[in-house]
Amino acid sequence: MQMTPDKKKNKLYIVVPCYNEEQVLGETSKRLKIKCENLIQKGQISKDSKIVFVDDGSKDRTWKMISELHETDSLFSGVKLSRNRGHQNALLAGLTMASEHADMAISMDADLQDDINAVDQMIEKYYEGCDIVYGVRSARETDTFFKRFTAEAFYKLINKMGGEIVYNHADYRLMSKRALKGLLEFDEVNIFLRGMVPMIGYKSDIVTYERAERFAGESKYPLKKMLSFAFEGITSLSVKPIQLIFNLGILICTMSVIAIIYFLFRHFTNNTVSGWTSLITSIWFLGGLQLVAIGLIGEYIGKVYLETKSRPKFIIEKILND
Ligand code: UDP
Ligand code: MG
Repeated sequence: MQMTPDKKKNKLYIVVPCYNEEQVLGETSKRLKIKCENLIQKGQISKDSKIVFVDDGSKDRTWKMISELHETDSLFSGVKLSRNRGHQNALLAGLTMASEHADMAISMDADLQDDINAVDQMIEKYYEGCDIVYGVRSARETDTFFKRFTAEAFYKLINKMGGEIVYNHADYRLMSKRALKGLLEFDEVNIFLRGMVPMIGYKSDIVTYERAERFAGESKYPLKKMLSFAFEGITSLSVKPIQLIFNLGILICTMSVIAIIYFLFRHFTNNTVSGWTSLITSIWFLGGLQLVAIGLIGEYIGKVYLETKSRPKFIIEKILND
């Protein structure tokens, strides 16, 4: 059970996944350090709070820089993955560590595109009793038209496809210890954090900020990675695409029954080529039937899929019992 957050005592871990980020790490660590010291001074977080850099199997000097940071200042911690496992896994590794040591964790990208000044508001909301605080982009003016368009289409598509994600929220968020523990109860291997976090529950809120441009280095998410990320999001969150096949099959079957009636009418009014009626109706009807059958099998596969994820059936927030 979470106790009422007591100011000055609550330990914050800022988790930052890094993949080939040697160009930004210097500046990022400097800015985050100032932020943390400022928060400590204001009594918002405890003195043993940390900034955790997770090296996602970088091929450049990233890990060396992280080790140096750790040596010169105990504010910095590091986690090194054995190889590149992708942003989401790197983040989860850092959050797992945070769940053991911290009272709250904030995840953010190494390029600081997400305004770190939103951290203060996130922490305030945490002390007001929120377990999850989502950072939401208020504007995408600095993104190219293409990035903005594809990104916004992505949020809409995922929500249509049965995944519940917070609009314009990426992986910049605060989570309390118990929310982190809740997240770790999701045993799935294909992880899509921004879709899983809302499934945890608890009181949540949002904080809006303006997203800046990457100040150095290149995006690690080129179009190809972005597309596969979107696909991953949909297929790992829901089995709705399978249900769509089933629905399509039903629709085609219904249409073919209507068509059969029309074709028979043409047949009996002798208004057709011989053989065409039976051929065309069976093609449509069988096609529809096959889709229904595939969709039905898919429903079961979908159930098996969700079972294998062994998500928690519930997470208890409070119990009243003497
Ligand atoms: N990242 C990672 N592993 C990867 C790719 C990216 O840890 O395989 C990290 C990267 O270092 C950054 C964050 O994920 O901290 C987001 O990447 P990026 O800023 O390149 O994405 P964009 O902002 O362009 O969507
Ligand atoms: Mg970025």
